[in-house]
Amino acid sequence: MGELTAEKHVKYIISVEKRKDDLQSVMMEHIRMNGAYWGLTTLDILGKLDTVDINEVVSWVLKCQHESDIVGLQNEDGSFSGDIWGEVDSRFSYIAVSCLSLLNQLEKINVEKAVNYIVSCKNMDGGFGCTPGGESHSGQIFCCVGALAIMGSLHHIDKDLLGWWLCERQVKSGGLNGRPEKLPDVCYSWWVLSSLIMIGRVHWINKEKLIKFILDCQDTENGGISDRPDDAVDVYHTYFGIAGLSLLEYPGLKAIDPAYALPVDVVNRIFLGKK
Ligand SMILES: [Zn+2]
Repeated sequence: MGELTAEKHVKYIISVEKRKDDLQSVMMEHIRMNGAYWGLTTLDILGKLDTVDINEVVSWVLKCQHESDIVGLQNEDGSFSGDIWGEVDSRFSYIAVSCLSLLNQLEKINVEKAVNYIVSCKNMDGGFGCTPGGESHSGQIFCCVGALAIMGSLHHIDKDLLGWWLCERQVKSGGLNGRPEKLPDVCYSWWVLSSLIMIGRVHWINKEKLIKFILDCQDTENGGISDRPDDAVDVYHTYFGIAGLSLLEYPGLKAIDPAYALPVDVVNRIFLGKK
């Protein structure tokens, strides 16, 4: 089995950060905040956060803050809209719950209704969809399981049924897919694996084979990780590949929290600092 070419990935992330003005970056402008999260968290898991100017990042993030807040986006049925335009999706429930919990402000929303809405997105196969009746999908399952975990409501999940659906996502190559009949993809190493950990069923997949699949998706020359072996690398898959390896307890990586998708020491610092 190959090894994690950590140094190369650090160089890759820093090079993407520096390329702010090229065409690809301009086209990605609308998800630059996501890119910052993926890049910075990758560097932190690899123990290289000191390679960035934190003050510069913080002042840029603060510049992006909008006057509106999260609490106003909860709807009567407990769901959350993504923005003032009103699209509803269980992803937005996760984002709202995660942010408010980190800010120690969860009591500002109706938690009972938020839990009930997520439970209404649960399917017969044990999985969750984006709205009630929506098809089960691993990304959505992470959002729903993560939000329930943060709100202390994992008892609403049929862990064996969901665990079975999730472990069936592992294909021959060792990689995980997002839904039945789909190709494996490195980012599902995060969505599926974190969900399995939160419901205590991670031992139902072959960890060694998944580690090999992720390592096979590395660009060992120029750094970065792709969705599948030999595809083009990007920051998104680099982050979820390395975060997946962290969940798999790959040596030399910081531990990551499966519900908050942030390094465990960061989460501890946030909560301990509050008490
Ligand atoms: Zn992907």
